[in-house]
Amino acid sequence: PSEKTWKPQWLRTVAPESVHTRYGELKDTVKKLGLHTVCEEAQCPNIGECWNGGTATVMLLGDTCTRGCRFCAVKTNNKPPPPDPWEPFKVAQALAAWKLDYVVLTSVDRDDLEDGGADHFARTVELIKLVKPEMLVECLVGDFGGNQQSLERLANCGMEVFAHNMETVARLQKYVRDRRANYKQSLKVLKSAKDLNPKLITKSSIMLGLGETDSEVRQTMLDLRSVGVEALTLGQYLRPTTQHLNVVEYITPERFSQWEAEGLEMGFLYVASGPLVRSSYKAGEYYMKNIVE
Ligand code: SF4
Ligand code: SF4
Repeated sequence: PSEKTWKPQWLRTVAPESVHTRYGELKDTVKKLGLHTVCEEAQCPNIGECWNGGTATVMLLGDTCTRGCRFCAVKTNNKPPPPDPWEPFKVAQALAAWKLDYVVLTSVDRDDLEDGGADHFARTVELIKLVKPEMLVECLVGDFGGNQQSLERLANCGMEVFAHNMETVARLQKYVRDRRANYKQSLKVLKSAKDLNPKLITKSSIMLGLGETDSEVRQTMLDLRSVGVEALTLGQYLRPTTQHLNVVEYITPERFSQWEAEGLEMGFLYVASGPLVRSSYKAGEYYMKNIVE
């Protein structure tokens, strides 16, 4: 399908205020401590809203992915440098100093590591909980090639929310994601996490605007519910560079609201749905409002 070159008004945002706000303080500490946040590195338009609301997304395991999804701007290489063994400790120490209530930990996919980096992730969560037990932790992880041992290590490390993104509907998987990822495997990963630890909230995300039909989106949402997924985010796909997949359609804010209502009717505990919504969009606020209260 041909590319949309015009960008609708609703996708434009204003730069966040950086003085006397939580955003301003976090920006300083991130720099001082040498942490990498997806929020800054992906130049996420929601940074003011998220950071001021107490949520940020920290990247683990380096900046180079062993996979190459066609919507993603992260660097790829089959043999990225080995992970920093001190990273779990450094991240926990840094987060203890941050005025945050909720952190999302995520990473590139590391198919080069035997456990896909699961132990590294789990140790980071364990150390965060050791230094700051009240901090809520969401892990947005890959599929670990379906490795059950990796999933078991992660499901029981103390995180509150286990997130794994479906990214798109079944038919478009092979055009959008790396060939090692697929629809069935992602559903299985989400099911396994819940089976291994029923206390976990499981969460997933779908990008819209890639040419999917309404009935395909609906089916994906129902499939996620069928494996016990409780939280969902829906956002507009935006093309990061001209080397990436075209945007087929800009979905209106009204349509996103309808999807949110439909998701809640299907039994999701919370649904964040909007043009600029990303997997971790205001994740802490949604969690607090729908799970804690
Ligand atoms: Fe990007 Fe994740 Fe795909 Fe790697 S696996 S290319 S980080 S979306
Ligand atoms: Fe950061 Fe995610 Fe919020 Fe963007 S949506 S600012 S990446 S927490």
